[in-house]
Amino acid sequence: MSDNQLITAHDKTFRPMISAETIAERVNTLGKQIAEDYAGKRPLLLAILNGAYMFAADLSRAIPIDLELTFVKLSSYKGTSTTGKVTTVLGLDTDLKGRHIIIVEDIIDTGKTLTNFFKELDKEEPASVEIAACFFKPEALQHPLSIKYLGFEIPNRFILGYGLDYDGLGRNLADIYELNV
Ligand code: 5GP
Repeated sequence: MSDNQLITAHDKTFRPMISAETIAERVNTLGKQIAEDYAGKRPLLLAILNGAYMFAADLSRAIPIDLELTFVKLSSYKGTSTTGKVTTVLGLDTDLKGRHIIIVEDIIDTGKTLTNFFKELDKEEPASVEIAACFFKPEALQHPLSIKYLGFEIPNRFILGYGLDYDGLGRNLADIYELNV
């Protein structure tokens, strides 16, 4: 990856931020940690679509123990009551009761998405729930979350690549790019 290689998606320009090699190294380390922590527990990795598909593929291959991996899609809508935002979970057909769950998320920004998801998961009475997130913007966090397995802390900037898109483009980039301002 050349440092001065700018790319364009729609109307915006992005510059390189984290190389595919650096990501691979970090993901492999996370995989080893998870394998040690979950040996004999057959964890269930719940990867959040769409953005986490690439991280989930790499992370799961870096965990050399028995595990299950499934994908869910979260859609949020405003409830009609005062409860406000409600998260619905699409595509989850696995019984979570008593399972050791690792949520696999691309990036945590405000933390709103996962905070809502956590509440939904709790109702299913899993044995444990932890988070594996590839990227985290601490400056943007509004809902406190404890991220057990974190790839990279990044500044509060919009990033693209490694599964993350800008209006549909850029998911297939192997490196991470940041908005060039
Ligand atoms: P949160 O609920 O934590 O605010 O938002 C998390 C979601 O917002 C991520 O799963 C991702 O889809 C999107 N998101 C947050 N920051 C970025 C970013 O820098 N780039 C892209 N492409 N998506 C982001």
